[in-house]
Amino acid sequence: MLQESKAVMEMLTVETARIWLNLFIEKLETNEKYLNALDGSIGDGDHGTNMLRGANDLKTKLAENPQIGSADLFKMAGMSFIKKTGGAAGLLYGQAFLHMSQSLQEGDDLLGNLANGLEGIQKVGQAELREKTLVDVWAPALEDIRDRRLSLDRITAHVTSTKEFQAKKGRAAYVAEQLNGHIDPGAASCGYFFEAMLEAGVYDG
Ligand code: ADP
Ligand code: MG
Repeated sequence: MLQESKAVMEMLTVETARIWLNLFIEKLETNEKYLNALDGSIGDGDHGTNMLRGANDLKTKLAENPQIGSADLFKMAGMSFIKKTGGAAGLLYGQAFLHMSQSLQEGDDLLGNLANGLEGIQKVGQAELREKTLVDVWAPALEDIRDRRLSLDRITAHVTSTKEFQAKKGRAAYVAEQLNGHIDPGAASCGYFFEAMLEAGVYDG
């Protein structure tokens, strides 16, 4: 058990962390319109554009700072999303990344870092499972990593599961009864974050 978690730990390096963030940025660029469309069904239609503002800022900062360590990479990501993304998602992703940065200062354990990120999200948003938010992807993905079974299919399943949930938090809560059948936009962007993590080779099950 100890050895297994060590194997996960060793793949979160400064190189893979940078690739991870860059792949996340690319996915947000590619899927801006799709995320806006998801948010159009249950919110105000801006989630893709919001996320892209933070992503573009982070892209510039990453290019300007080629030498920094992984704790600083995630701190930078946190600041970009808080300052440029704005809205609910900016604060939530921002806090997630700042919390990950804090725990990266203490060690490179992927599970510990992601657990700390989730704490940041829940501290700000108070969302629990099945409330149709990014928590519905982040929390089960974390469990899957712990159980060594995270895959692209599992991520897609977690994102799709939000179709069934009634929104209790954020803008979507105001139109909660109309939302069944719709994927939560924040859950979808969170899916890209974990897909990027897999593709970056941070974790290989
Ligand atoms: P806004 O709602 O300010 O327009 P976005 O559209 O960018 O912000 O982000 C909406 C997403 O934020 C939702 O799809 C949901 O996943 C997430 N969200 C909103 N409120 C909360 C909350 N309290 N906790 C967790 N996630 C939340
Ligand atoms: Mg919105």
